[in-house]
Amino acid sequence: MAADRSASEVVRGRLVLDDRVAIGTVRVDDGHIAAVELDPGASDTGAGPSFPFIAPGFVDVHVHGWGGHDAMGPSEALDGMARALLAHGVTSFLPTAVTAPLSDLTAFADRVRAWLDAAPADGAVPLGFNLEGPFISAARKGAHNPSFIRHPAGVDRADLEPLIEGLRLMTVAPEIPGAVELIEWLRDRGVAASMGHSAATLQAARDGYAAGGRTTTHLFNAMSGIDHHAPGLAVAALVDDDAWVELIADGHHVDRALWPIITRTKPSDRLILVSDAVSLAGTGERRAAIGGMAVELIGDRCTLVDGGALAGSVIALDAAVRNLAQSGVPLAHAVAAASRNPLALLGVTDRGRLAAAQRADLVELGEDLQVRRVMRGGVWHAGAGAA
Ligand SMILES: [Zn+2]
Repeated sequence: MAADRSASEVVRGRLVLDDRVAIGTVRVDDGHIAAVELDPGASDTGAGPSFPFIAPGFVDVHVHGWGGHDAMGPSEALDGMARALLAHGVTSFLPTAVTAPLSDLTAFADRVRAWLDAAPADGAVPLGFNLEGPFISAARKGAHNPSFIRHPAGVDRADLEPLIEGLRLMTVAPEIPGAVELIEWLRDRGVAASMGHSAATLQAARDGYAAGGRTTTHLFNAMSGIDHHAPGLAVAALVDDDAWVELIADGHHVDRALWPIITRTKPSDRLILVSDAVSLAGTGERRAAIGGMAVELIGDRCTLVDGGALAGSVIALDAAVRNLAQSGVPLAHAVAAASRNPLALLGVTDRGRLAAAQRADLVELGEDLQVRRVMRGGVWHAGAGAA
């Protein structure tokens, strides 16, 4: 894909800032933002449809594959996934493993680590990796293979140590034996535990957050929810202002009617859009095997062939931002949920905002919020929605 590099460049448009949209310019110099200059009295009103939105690059911390490429595949698959994501505005991501034997997860971790420095210059930048399992509840396994689910109490920490380097995020069900100790152990190693695939009571969920659990894997999916007599993990996640929550904003994983419950309850800096996409995304294929289980696509709804559980999405974060913005969430908040917020969870501060000294990862969006171009570290690449 053609890329233009100029040492210095001025990008003009409707800038998606931390909490508003305003007309101005971003000056890019040597891969970084040198300055952000707003027009005097600028607001986004009155700008013609041809005037693009300029947003910080999107960051997907929960994505299993894209464009026919599986995160658990060889380095060529990681290359393909990174390139497919970049075209959708995703400039940084965490390749995400599903529940698998520990030996497979260790091999996955080794493969991703070996690939980090060799990732293609025309793909999304890897920031480490995410493990969705194996320490989850069999009662809320979703599309994960129950044969590989483990209890942390039954696993020697020495067997987990080889996973730690590069591990940024790990899903844990806080109520299973040994989970609270595992969450503390992960916290002490700088890994964010994500509460999920869980049947936790409200108290068990709160214990998980108190032990260092920081975020919530695909809120409402595969978890104890809002039962007014038996509140569970979803309630703990919603009412704890410090807890981040992931939302898969495809309209299938959480009905749009519930989105205001999330967006009106959570502080806007605690919402994280994730795709939870699987390798089928963007391929046009209808069937695939994921984690050894057959999945099928009916419309844009991806489910296990056996049993019909939702098995991830086929969207990327550009669609998630569009959907959330179309639901009435201010564009600046929808974009933050796909950029600044996931980075804040990971403690990454060198990118994710339109501000001086930030890495020049930008997404140019048309009036329809389709991705026209993507700037990765100061270099433009064609977007999936290029005219
Ligand atoms: Zn997932």
